Amino acid sequence: MTILLDGRPVAEAIDLATRTAVAAVGAGNPPPSLVSVHRGLDSPFRFYLRRQAKAAGALGIAFRDVPLEPGDGQEELVATLRSLDHDPAVHGVLVEHPLPAPFEFFRAVDELRPEKDVDGVSPRSLGRLVAQHPVHVPAVARAALAIARHYRLPLDGESTVVLGRSTTVGLPLAVLLASPPPGANAAVTVLHSKSGDLTQRLAGARTIFSCVGRPALLNRGNVPEGTHVVDVGVSSVPDPDRPGAQKAVGDADARALDGWAGSITPVPGGVGPVTVAQLMEATVRSWRMLVRGEGSP
Ligand code: NAP
Repeated sequence: MTILLDGRPVAEAIDLATRTAVAAVGAGNPPPSLVSVHRGLDSPFRFYLRRQAKAAGALGIAFRDVPLEPGDGQEELVATLRSLDHDPAVHGVLVEHPLPAPFEFFRAVDELRPEKDVDGVSPRSLGRLVAQHPVHVPAVARAALAIARHYRLPLDGESTVVLGRSTTVGLPLAVLLASPPPGANAAVTVLHSKSGDLTQRLAGARTIFSCVGRPALLNRGNVPEGTHVVDVGVSSVPDPDRPGAQKAVGDADARALDGWAGSITPVPGGVGPVTVAQLMEATVRSWRMLVRGEGSP
């Protein structure tokens, strides 16, 4: 039997702690505040923005989105981030990405001090993760590990594969999994588009974290029987039940793997809600660092 690794109870547990932390902010203090910078309402990120706004509202976190104007370039993005970094009423800043050329994402997010980089994706934040002294770890990496921990997937010393090596998702997750506690002590292999035959590479994996964005990449043909699958990938495909509409799917062919994989996270409802919960938790932690000076780097 394949166990469904539902992300919602994991997100709820994180939200419970966040709500308690927000309640402790105290009257007279500004509420924790998160700002999301994006390319405008036509961007594919509308869905994520709605989810962030809803989650923040439910937790008592102030949220606003800052769209870049049409025609804005790197200079305007940098100026926006610099100004948010200096705004004492803002405690967390996100830049929805990927950004198309000529934007240089990493140069821009490096304008943020590590405390405000709640998604932990700036060069400084990533460097601190590798140096085992993180301020914020990328929310999606923390989410994938939180699910694995919640459902007690075997990681410590176990053969673990991360599919994907992007600087904001695959690589930080691989570092987190391979790190000593609070990392997972896993024996990690990182695969990518040039690493050859997937079936051969996945043989022996006890848990696969897939961060690719290719529907049905994982199926009975390449996933060893009994292996656990944490599906981070999200792709939009036509919804056969609603003509003209799209639906989100992961990297795994969940139907094919049912009854074959040991366990699997659903898409939607797996890593996604936990990622949003981690972002909110990080914003409140930033508030504590910036306003109370607690746990500053
Ligand atoms: P990305 O920058 O496009 O990276 C994709 C990675 O997959 C690359 O490293 C690529 O290898 C690798 N890859 C491509 N084809 C492969 C194959 N056949 N076998 C093995 N590896 C392959 O994407 P990303 O930003 O890392 O995001 C990855 C996925 O996570 C996307 O679907 C994204 O939507 C999703 N995501 C989900 C959440 C969430 O909360 N659930 C959050 C963020 C992102 P190369 O480096 O060789 O090109």
